[in-house]
Amino acid sequence: MKNCEYHQIDPQTLSTPNPTPPPPPCAERTITRAKRKWEAFPGRNRFCCDGRIIFARQSGVLPLTLGLILVTSTLFFIFDCPFLVEHLTSCIPVIGGVLFVFVVISLLQTSFTDPGILPRAGLDEAADIERQIDNSGSSSYRPPPRTKEILIRQQVVKLKYCFTCKMFRPPRTSHCSLCDNCVERFDHHCPWVGNCVGKRNYRFFYSFIVSLSFLTAFIFGCVTTHLVMRSQGGNGVIFALQESPARYPFSHCQLELVVCFFSVWSILGLSGFHTYLVASNLTTNEDIKGSWSGKSGSEGSGNPYSYNNIFTNCCVVLCGPMPPSLIDRRGFLPPDDAVPAPPLAEIEQPPLEAKSDINMGPGHLSPAPL
Ligand SMILES: [Zn+2]
Ligand SMILES: [Zn+2]
Repeated sequence: MKNCEYHQIDPQTLSTPNPTPPPPPCAERTITRAKRKWEAFPGRNRFCCDGRIIFARQSGVLPLTLGLILVTSTLFFIFDCPFLVEHLTSCIPVIGGVLFVFVVISLLQTSFTDPGILPRAGLDEAADIERQIDNSGSSSYRPPPRTKEILIRQQVVKLKYCFTCKMFRPPRTSHCSLCDNCVERFDHHCPWVGNCVGKRNYRFFYSFIVSLSFLTAFIFGCVTTHLVMRSQGGNGVIFALQESPARYPFSHCQLELVVCFFSVWSILGLSGFHTYLVASNLTTNEDIKGSWSGKSGSEGSGNPYSYNNIFTNCCVVLCGPMPPSLIDRRGFLPPDDAVPAPPLAEIEQPPLEAKSDINMGPGHLSPAPL
């Protein structure tokens, strides 16, 4: 339909003196609007702002997360801060404001950043991989092996074939069934932030949960202090106690307390768990599966990605260089591509060493030393 509309307002056709022939059907048009790659993205993500922002399709819980943070913080700033500033210190709203801004920015960055999606293999690449798999040298049919093994720091790591993306997944990559993408260094799919958490947005996610822990604990502490001071007196609140309780309705305090009380423990626990993961250079996915602890049948010879140093692991995970997004979502599709090829075929492929080499030298995929 868009092509039809384009021809109807074509200035060349308007300026032609001869009667113009009726426009041909859309299928025969040669002039087409150049499509961007996000418009034909094969995964289940959504895009807005012409592909500048990406988020998962099932992001319905994200407004709830944002709403809880906004409502709780607003109640705190409106009802608790004036009292605490008057009777304690004026630093309280400043600290709360900084934490609040940090939490919201981290949340939005986690939600709207490409988590490290790998582009699917193009038709040629997929056919090439299939050929390599089938080329087993045996005349009798046998099911093609769908795993490959590579060595990482003298440790055998299995690469599984992704039937959706038509490629062997690089190490630490997993296919998110909700987003329908392979994601590098896949941690988990978080419905609260409405996105996968992976290689490119894990640092934002970690900042989010840690700052949210501080914000929740801070508000919880301030509201409790407010209630104690108002109910028990002391600390120069005699005048405040003489005021009408109706002027300071306590229902907002109760709401804040309930939200903070039930969230602070889970968020603190989550932050602690992810701090352990960061210090160990592990992902949630690996920890749950027990990839390096022997739970999954491996020898349990340890995490090959760990530097065996907590500080180095933290630096690598949180402060390492931000890898570029591999889905060139604002790039243009080939204009005369008759076959709707996978839109990301032109993009430089991720380090799929397994395509060419099955066994690699030790340390080939090892993290580079700092
Ligand atoms: Zn996949
Ligand atoms: Zn996902």
